[in-house]
Amino acid sequence: MTGRTHDLAAFTALSLTIILLPLNKVTFATGIVAVVANMVGGIAPDIDQPTAPFWRNLPIGGVVGRALTRLLGGHRFLSHSIIGVFLFAWGSRYLLELLHPSFTNLNMEIIWWAFMIGFVSHLVMDSFTREGVPWLLPVPVKFGLPPFKLFRLQTGGILEKFILFPGLVIFNGYLYFSNYSKFLDLFKNQLK
Ligand SMILES: [Zn+2]
Repeated sequence: MTGRTHDLAAFTALSLTIILLPLNKVTFATGIVAVVANMVGGIAPDIDQPTAPFWRNLPIGGVVGRALTRLLGGHRFLSHSIIGVFLFAWGSRYLLELLHPSFTNLNMEIIWWAFMIGFVSHLVMDSFTREGVPWLLPVPVKFGLPPFKLFRLQTGGILEKFILFPGLVIFNGYLYFSNYSKFLDLFKNQLK
């Protein structure tokens, strides 16, 4: 699945979470950083791919990407499993706690959740692709939905580009339209 589909799916998952949970007061800065963290989480599992957009834009990205690919066991391996979810959950939490003293106006708890929602949405979305996801590593089986590969999506294929991506855009439009008052409340009263 492409980076932009992953980011849109991550954003969709974040929007759904906002709709389903009661609103909390957050600082404007926390809101912005949370959306960015959500996007980063949405593509983070693919740091195990040396050609990921993540690495392409960095000067020595290719080298670092290749090294990380080896460390994580290759593409769609450790970072695409439940163990990977826990590893990244722990790592990102540690990093945010380290940064907290310098950014006391940020609610790291919310930012961490936004990152993890993006991260998990990535694995769910990858499950709909032909390659599948090794959720239960070290059990070396890749799982996918539906179980038959033939009915799954091809990364960057016509179905992803012309059905899934526009479908997600429409779904987000629907979410924001049908929960308009909640989002209005969020922007008017909860952000400070
Ligand atoms: Zn992936």
